[in-house]
Amino acid sequence: MTPRYSIFSLLRNAASYHEDWPEAWRSPEPKPSYEVVIVGGGGHGLATAYYLAKEHGVTDVAVIERGWLGGGNTGRNTTIVRSNYLWDESAQLYEHALKLWEGLSQDLNYNVMFSQRGVMNLAHNQHDLRELNRRISANRLNGVDSEFLTPARIKAFCPIIDLRAQGRYPVLGASLQRRGGTARHDAVAWGYARAADARGVDIIQECPVEGFDISNGKIQAVRTGKGRIEARKVGIVVAGHSSVLAGQAGFRLPVQSLPLQALVSEPVKPVLDTVVMSNAVHAYISQSDKGELVIGAGVDPYVGYGQRGGIAVTEETLAAICELFPMFRRMRMLRLWGGIVDVCPDASPILSKTPVEGLYINCGWGTGGFKATPGSGHVFAHTIARDAPHPLNAPFKLDRFHSGFLIDEHGAAAVAH
Ligand SMILES: Cc1cc2nc3c(=O)[nH]c(=O)nc-3n(C[C@H](O)[C@H](O)[C@H](O)COP(=O)(O)OP(=O)(O)OC[C@H]3O[C@@H](n4cnc5c(N)ncnc54)[C@H](O)[C@@H]3O)c2cc1C
Repeated sequence: MTPRYSIFSLLRNAASYHEDWPEAWRSPEPKPSYEVVIVGGGGHGLATAYYLAKEHGVTDVAVIERGWLGGGNTGRNTTIVRSNYLWDESAQLYEHALKLWEGLSQDLNYNVMFSQRGVMNLAHNQHDLRELNRRISANRLNGVDSEFLTPARIKAFCPIIDLRAQGRYPVLGASLQRRGGTARHDAVAWGYARAADARGVDIIQECPVEGFDISNGKIQAVRTGKGRIEARKVGIVVAGHSSVLAGQAGFRLPVQSLPLQALVSEPVKPVLDTVVMSNAVHAYISQSDKGELVIGAGVDPYVGYGQRGGIAVTEETLAAICELFPMFRRMRMLRLWGGIVDVCPDASPILSKTPVEGLYINCGWGTGGFKATPGSGHVFAHTIARDAPHPLNAPFKLDRFHSGFLIDEHGAAAVAH
């Protein structure tokens, strides 16, 4: 694709204080019917719409978002991208996503600021060490880059980390995925929205889906704040609210909705050029391009829909960060927020047909679905277009909770993102 903006239009727009900037996507009123309706305008929903149009030629598509694009977890997450999951099924799904990340800015002609700065997972005890080494071996067998770092190599890779023996959580080693890193979350939503719109997808914001019309076990329409919209097929992609929407469609999901928090510090000069994660102390950290330290915590231990979390969780997280990085002790925190994550019993997602014909669900990514955004959208679009799973998401069916074929990723997911 050729760039939409020349240097002259950039100068003209700068001089006009952005007033004349064209809209990046249209804001149409919904049509009475579509071939496919995607409920949820986060990264996964928008990516699904984009790949439906691009890969399957299905362009009679609407994305229905109750708020604004990326206002859910897509715009609230700490943007860590990696694919070093334990089991074959997950490693292959997340690696598919990582490969798409590597060409995403070019594909969308939109800079999603994907930065492969490496993701390090720390081991603080013998159990962590064994688990990391097992996962490194499994990753390599799946073609996922993963290596072990001794404490000396950790220090060389990330000099500001404190490895002194008197630390409460001694660092005994780490795994490193060099191809992992971060991306700009809003840009991912905006890039997919612009590219989907350009292929004819209608993006409809401030339009909550309030129910489904189902007849003879088959989806007929969605009922929304802007009226009834008929659809031959509907995909539910509403992280954090999946059980609510599934309930409206008459089936139950095995997910818990939990608050998950993150916070950022005041901006400082570049000091940290990788992502450091610790499952054992429930903390992880990176530095944004603006200079803020981006710090993530674990989930709160209770179910809820308030987009905030308990202060005790934040205090524990900051204590761990200060222990690993004593130089951050005097930094001030600027903002704290939360999102609601849907967690499955096996810490793996659901990308599946449902008991309702023509209704599909993509949910249960828990604390770590941002990294999967391109891959999730890609295989979910296939599932909807073909009415059959893509080989990569076939193991992530809803009926695995009946059959017992669970994909237990608690070790790789855990607090980690
Ligand atoms: C604090 C935090 C940190 C995280 N950190 C990471 C990380 O570092 N790496 C990582 O991989 N993952 C991370 N995650 C998880 C990640 O954010 C999510 O898994 C992912 O963004 C889910 O994307 P989505 O598009 O499915 O959901 P969302 O972006 O939440 O989109 C769902 C959309 O559905 C809409 N919706 C809900 N109900 C309705 C309705 N009735 N009608 C219409 N629309 C509706 C919502 O408004 C929302 O916009 C984190 C999450 C949080 C909260």
